[in-house]
Amino acid sequence: MKNTIGILVPMQEEVELLLSDLAHAKKIELASRIFYRGDLCGKEIVLAKSGIGKVASSFTASLLIHHFGVQSILVTGVAGGIADQLKVGDLAIATRAVQHDMDCSPLFPKFEIPTTGVTYFEPDKTLTKQLQDAANTYCELDFKNQISTEVQVELDIQKPNIYTGLLVSGDQFIGTMAQWNKICTELPETLFVEMEGAAVAQVCHDSNIPWCSIRTISDKANDMAHFDFNLFLNHAAKIYTAGIVKRFLEKI
Ligand code: SAH
Repeated sequence: MKNTIGILVPMQEEVELLLSDLAHAKKIELASRIFYRGDLCGKEIVLAKSGIGKVASSFTASLLIHHFGVQSILVTGVAGGIADQLKVGDLAIATRAVQHDMDCSPLFPKFEIPTTGVTYFEPDKTLTKQLQDAANTYCELDFKNQISTEVQVELDIQKPNIYTGLLVSGDQFIGTMAQWNKICTELPETLFVEMEGAAVAQVCHDSNIPWCSIRTISDKANDMAHFDFNLFLNHAAKIYTAGIVKRFLEKI
């Protein structure tokens, strides 16, 4: 049976490196978005720049599923590390996802998607396990070859660790201690934060499509986040993303 995988990345920088390895690439423009269908590591994929935030990424995910007919979705890119143990350059894999800015209380419990009874979205277990294997292989075999020693030293990312846990998403760049504190207080189990994953998870849930998510930590979602984010984006983000996506496609 045909098995097309949708790969969603929020930013142009992250699309580019993957694109250069995409065989038989076909560019399709639709609804102010660009999609690329092609073969990567022997798998048929549709690669899309989702755009930033929950609406942009949900819409892109809907098109991937209902227009392009993908059977599963990987959401990747960079994220802010909320939990203390996460450092810039580490990898975070979602085992659950919640929208930290969803609040229809007192009508519905805080964070619950109104009228659905759902607060936490669960990724597909098999895909998530394969993502963990891919991340391990990436760290063991690819990282040192792909990220130059100068960049490793400059960003202090010599030895990436892989963590799994709660992903929180919302339409905010978390870049102050006040924002960091609010998330830690309200959702104390949070591992990492970004702006798309839990929205794509809702679309996949409603469409009965398996999803999984891995992100590279670009910043610590604190007062230094804007600075760290840009540095990481310019020097390392796309290399990580392309490397991990390729290892993932080999595993599935
Ligand atoms: N400066 C960028 C905008 C980045 S928005 C530009 O001009 O293109 C941040 C992006 O990285 C989002 O896609 C989000 O998912 C992720 N991200 C990284 N760190 C984040 C943080 N601390 N808080 C929220 N999102 C973060």
